[in-house]
Amino acid sequence: TSIGIAVYPGNGSDIDVLLKHADTAMYGAKNEGRNDFRFFTPDMNSRAFARLKLENALRRAIERGELILEYQPQWEMPEQRLIGVEALVRWQHPERGRINPIEFIPVAEESGLIHAIGDHVLRTACRQQVAWQAAGLQPVTIAVNISALQFRRQGFLERVSRIIDETGADPTGLDLELTESALMQPGPEIEAQLASLRGMGFGLALDDFGTGYSSLAYLKRIPLTHLKIDRSFVQDLPGDAEDAAIATATLSIARDLGLAVIAEGVETPAQRDFLLTRQCRVMQGYLLSPPLPATAITPLLRDAAAGGHAAPPG
Ligand code: C2E
Ligand code: MG
Ligand code: MG
Repeated sequence: TSIGIAVYPGNGSDIDVLLKHADTAMYGAKNEGRNDFRFFTPDMNSRAFARLKLENALRRAIERGELILEYQPQWEMPEQRLIGVEALVRWQHPERGRINPIEFIPVAEESGLIHAIGDHVLRTACRQQVAWQAAGLQPVTIAVNISALQFRRQGFLERVSRIIDETGADPTGLDLELTESALMQPGPEIEAQLASLRGMGFGLALDDFGTGYSSLAYLKRIPLTHLKIDRSFVQDLPGDAEDAAIATATLSIARDLGLAVIAEGVETPAQRDFLLTRQCRVMQGYLLSPPLPATAITPLLRDAAAGGHAAPPG
């Protein structure tokens, strides 16, 4: 429960104003993590206004073509073979410039816009796959992030199927990245949905593994294809003993359950080398390449198709 409080007469002299301010304060409580109360303060109004403005702009962003995708390569090491890319959405805002997903995905989730944005992202990634294939380039997996709200909404499977039919994309070349919150308390419907997606050929990755409400029970019940070790566990490798233990344990669980592993946020040669000695071979991170526009991925795919090993930029 989130509670907002407005006090007479300081915050307003009639019931309508008081209720409006109490409502604003309640949103303040929600934004700061829910399950709490907040007293109304005048600066909440300006923050609420800025948020509303962002939400309205986001509402129009899809039609205006402001939501674009970048693709971050995933490399098989030590050969540095390009095996996949992760699609990451960016908002090219006309006044504010580039806005990162961390800032607007929560707004999209709270306003319900996430469903339209999620469809747009999946459709764009599907079209990109078809375009790369039509150009005769080396096929690589495209991973698409799916918000828990999207995944748990009735009709998700139909939306995905429609986009696949409409674009002619091949689901066996697509991974859906789910978070632990999407898989929390999986009922029979969620399990059936996961099974259907696997049946269609999609790969299913568990993103940010270990950062949410991890339950090892679902690892055996759910037909995942791989785990992504979160950047927060990779960051302090190899020096941090706890992170080293967590990364090593995750790799060992994944191996025993027959799941592939991708390490996220690999920034240094020392992190890479540590992961390699622990048999973690697929990596993504600034050390190898940042997220890139599709046009910068194309030459990497061409190199891969030519039979050579794609050289990561930088
Ligand atoms: P994520 O799915 O875990 O994506 C990885 C994030 O780590 C990306 O941030 C990527 O740019 C960043 N990253 C990659 N390598 C490195 C590195 O070596 N060092 C550091 N410090 N960071 C690295 P980004 O693009 O800002 O995305 C943040 C999050 O926003 C994503 O985390 C994902 O949860 C969400 N997101 C992005 N695109 C979408 C989308 O289309 N739909 C949904 N629902 N969420 C998305
Ligand atoms: Mg991801
Ligand atoms: Mg992640």
